[in-house]
Amino acid sequence: MKQTDEILVFKQVLQVPFEYSAGPVVSKFLVALRDEKKILAIKCAKCGLVYLPPRSTCAKCSAPMADWVELSGRGTLETFTVVHYPEPVQPMKTPYILGVVKLDGADTGLPHLIGEAEEKDLKVGMKLEPVFQENRTGHILDIKYFRPLK
Ligand SMILES: [Zn+2]
Repeated sequence: MKQTDEILVFKQVLQVPFEYSAGPVVSKFLVALRDEKKILAIKCAKCGLVYLPPRSTCAKCSAPMADWVELSGRGTLETFTVVHYPEPVQPMKTPYILGVVKLDGADTGLPHLIGEAEEKDLKVGMKLEPVFQENRTGHILDIKYFRPLK
């Protein structure tokens, strides 16, 4: 038998379907969003920081979260960018605007889509409001996007 040092390389695509639990904290947030169009944040029992999206322990002091806080949904645009690079996992066709919105009453920024506005219409510090999907499924995109406050 003839010896060879040839190394063969095969290209394949792996697809790994999976599912995961959102857990009790994020599930409560998503259910309120889906069923009542309510945006719930959560407050740290020790240092008082208010997180949106909610989490089970504080990133600053590691204390457990204590109280749910219902927010109005209005907030301030902290930063934004225009996305031009298309990826199949993105929720919108490019170009679209992605921003960080700090909702009134929250201490953390929520990354989300910005709609009903072009880049020239936006300024850091401007007030925004949420627009909800008509058919909500228990997903962060039940908030369709944030738009300039009317
Ligand atoms: Zn804390």
